[in-house]
Amino acid sequence: MTDLHTLTTATVRTQLAEGQISARGLVEEFLRAIPAVDGRVHSYLTMAPERARAQAARLDALAERGEPLPPLAGVPVAVKDVISTRGIRTTCGSRALERYTPLFDATAVERLEAAGAIILGKLNCDEFAMGSSNENSAFGPVRNPWDLERVPGGSSGGAAAAVAAGLAVAALGSDTGGSIRQPAAFCGVVGLLPTYGRVSRFGLVAFASSLDHIGPLARSAKDAAAVLAAIAGRDPLDATSADAPVPDYVRQLDEPIAGLRIGVPREAMAAGAGLDAAVAAQFQAALAQLEHAGCKIVEISLPHAPYAIATYYVIATAEASSNLARYDGVRYGLRVEADSLGEMYRRTREAGFGAEVKRRILLGTFVLSAGYYDAYYRKAQRVRNLVAGDYRAAFESVDAIATPTTPTPAFRLGEKIADPLQMYLNDIFTVSADLAGIPGISVPCGFASGLPVGLQLLGNYFEEARLLRLAHHYERLRGAFPDPPVSLAEAPRG
Ligand code: GLN
Repeated sequence: MTDLHTLTTATVRTQLAEGQISARGLVEEFLRAIPAVDGRVHSYLTMAPERARAQAARLDALAERGEPLPPLAGVPVAVKDVISTRGIRTTCGSRALERYTPLFDATAVERLEAAGAIILGKLNCDEFAMGSSNENSAFGPVRNPWDLERVPGGSSGGAAAAVAAGLAVAALGSDTGGSIRQPAAFCGVVGLLPTYGRVSRFGLVAFASSLDHIGPLARSAKDAAAVLAAIAGRDPLDATSADAPVPDYVRQLDEPIAGLRIGVPREAMAAGAGLDAAVAAQFQAALAQLEHAGCKIVEISLPHAPYAIATYYVIATAEASSNLARYDGVRYGLRVEADSLGEMYRRTREAGFGAEVKRRILLGTFVLSAGYYDAYYRKAQRVRNLVAGDYRAAFESVDAIATPTTPTPAFRLGEKIADPLQMYLNDIFTVSADLAGIPGISVPCGFASGLPVGLQLLGNYFEEARLLRLAHHYERLRGAFPDPPVSLAEAPRG
């Protein structure tokens, strides 16, 4: 029998169908094994044993009756705590929502369960998904299972760490400027940013609505494909969700990649991008393997890439300042009483939000204010168009674009927390895909200083299938990726 940390979407379903395991048994094993490892990693904020057991019982009943099993039958997954779960508290990593329990499921959660997945619990993250290290969680940081003194990345740090450590087979994260791909890179797992509109955001607590996405983290491109297939597609509850048909992502993985043209942006390799030499070497080695497999590697230019970070931090903060206005002590979560309404608002927001969230609200309010709106917000919208235009032009001559996912491997806890600009620069290779709305994937491509490095592949709108296929073939060229030192691999099964 396989070990918990090596389970895949396919192996769980097969073992369940063949009666080798029961979903209930599997859930109990995970619930028993998680605390020992997660006591050190801190990826889960809330466990959902009752919901997990109820779903497991449904799947066992299907299996016992010999009925066809749904594609993710019995697969233990977990969900970033900015995604709503009915009856399970959804904190967004914030004091403001510490006791908030949604009355409904996010569409992505509902679809995952409909596909047979079992939700084990909710995953730690930066407060309201604002951050690149998970140190902005009000409930304490997540630690990187490759080195507990290092950050797992953010804001989906709990999702990346849990999947890397085997504490879930896959997870749902959210990506507004890199929050799926950057932690995936830091923790040595696959993270996929779908095209804007590919996956419904109904039930995703809004940070920056024109940039927010839900997407999967998993230990392989194949598992990411299986999760994406389950959650993608039009949702009448999200007007921004697209009607485009959902391809069979898993089936298309084995189609050939020879002849695909992969562009490498000159700007990413330039000195100003701050690319670590060891990360660059792993990236070049990955490109060489893809080239050997028949891909054509060509240099391209994304001339507006150097402006992407500044543009993102204007638009994202502007939208955040508006979206977070609702946490006023009246409608949601925390309320700190006071003699006047104004004072109640002030005290509630003072106590409810951490420093980074306050910084974003202040910045966003500033760039939207009369007199600065044109200088910052409108200008950022124009630059956003130019960034998207760079990609449109590039995809006329290439099938995908490759960069390292991050300029450096995982940094130490505390290393950048006092310097927000340094923290923001982590997103240098990830934010522009969110600005343009195109899909991207990060796949582990070796190690720098003993820490995982991510290869990022970006594609044109709705070309997730091609990205997954490239990542899948690349994984074969690369070979199996090892387990981190802290993982369920330590725990004997039984
Ligand atoms: N690190 C970026 C930020 O702090 C991206 C966050 C995200 O994608 N949610 O805004």
